[in-house]
Amino acid sequence: MSHIVIIGCGIIGAAIAYQLSQIEGLKITVLDKQAPATASTGAALGVLMGVISHKVKGRPWKMRHISVERYHTLIPELEAKINRPIPHNRQGILQLCLPGDDLDKWEKLLDIRKADGLPLEIWDVAKLRDRCPQLQSQEVIAGIYSPADLQINPVALTLALVEVAQQNGVNFHFGVTVAGYETISVGSHEYRCCQIQTKSLDVTTKAPILEDVDWLVVAAGLGSLPCLQGIKGGKLESLQCRSTQGNGFTIIPVLGQALELQVRSPLGNPDFQPVITGDDVHIVPVTENEYWVGATVEFPDDVGEAVADPSLLNRVIGRAISFCPGLADATVARKWSGLRPRPEGQAAPAVGYLQGFKNVLLATGHYRNGVLLAPATASAVEKMIINSLRDR
Ligand SMILES: Cc1cc2nc3c(=O)[nH]c(=O)nc-3n(C[C@H](O)[C@H](O)[C@H](O)COP(=O)(O)OP(=O)(O)OC[C@H]3O[C@@H](n4cnc5c(N)ncnc54)[C@H](O)[C@@H]3O)c2cc1C
Repeated sequence: MSHIVIIGCGIIGAAIAYQLSQIEGLKITVLDKQAPATASTGAALGVLMGVISHKVKGRPWKMRHISVERYHTLIPELEAKINRPIPHNRQGILQLCLPGDDLDKWEKLLDIRKADGLPLEIWDVAKLRDRCPQLQSQEVIAGIYSPADLQINPVALTLALVEVAQQNGVNFHFGVTVAGYETISVGSHEYRCCQIQTKSLDVTTKAPILEDVDWLVVAAGLGSLPCLQGIKGGKLESLQCRSTQGNGFTIIPVLGQALELQVRSPLGNPDFQPVITGDDVHIVPVTENEYWVGATVEFPDDVGEAVADPSLLNRVIGRAISFCPGLADATVARKWSGLRPRPEGQAAPAVGYLQGFKNVLLATGHYRNGVLLAPATASAVEKMIINSLRDR
């Protein structure tokens, strides 16, 4: 039986664990130093902009297409297994067009999506007002409505994936980190990781545990490259992902702030509450009288630290109110922030072999789209493992 160890239990590690748990004959262990969905995933808004994205070819579009299609089957599949709903919104995403936006570009995208059988609509201002009367901005010149795109609560989704993977026999260990790796040389500049040593972060717990591994999947978000620093073999000074550009890369934290607003009654038509997005600000209906609004995009400073700037969050709130003035009367129920793992020197996400290793996969660096791209990432990892097992 092949033993697969996954480091990291955000949305990416959980999606991979669930996907692999459906294959007979694998032993799967997931390790995380924290509880599931507490890092980047815990801060995400769960907006899944697939069909409405401007990606039209290659890996970026393929991953979005696979993911959006999979979400429509994955959600009911998981809900049936956990016997409770996973909060999500299937009323689509409405992107607001502002002066200067190229409507011809959108028309072209509509044609491309139509050829793929995917719905996308351009709404004029009259239709926008009719369908979403909460939009009162004079600035908006049109809307692009994508009924096939959706939004999901990322924490509830991750916990559902963990629960069902557990039902399927996956072992999860939280409060645990990797303390060391055993590797063997399997040819010229090629290594295999054959054992990992884990340690509990709870100081009262006993000695480190040794686990034999056949595959190591690193889905540790911002922790992905640091947690591999101790692995011996290969050209470790330049961690590379064979599947993409082939240059060394790093992963930097890009901070995002968001908040939850409470209103007395739903804005606009209570029966039609799509996610509204304009000028990179999302207004996400989560319950009848709650909206999430976000998120800022804040790069790290010269010493690599990303520190929340309250004025940027105020700008996001101001922009949301400029589109939906009804939000001005809302009360702020909660504010939060999180760090997105952004690869530098490598397109997001980094999914592929760690250079020099035959059995170490990276599934990381999903930056602003980890929730969106989780199903396609899990499917890519599954294919790499299955193909390799077949070739043995
Ligand atoms: C404000 C905000 C809004 C966002 N909105 C969206 C959105 O609308 N749609 C979307 O698709 N994406 C969104 N994102 C991006 C999304 O959150 C990330 O791309 C995604 O969560 C990355 O998932 P992950 O599993 O790779 O990383 P994480 O969720 O960060 O999980 C990594 C896990 O690895 C663990 N770990 C790290 N190092 C170690 C180690 N050494 N040993 C053991 N465990 C380790 C961590 O504890 C953590 O649990 C948003 C992000 C932010 C901050």
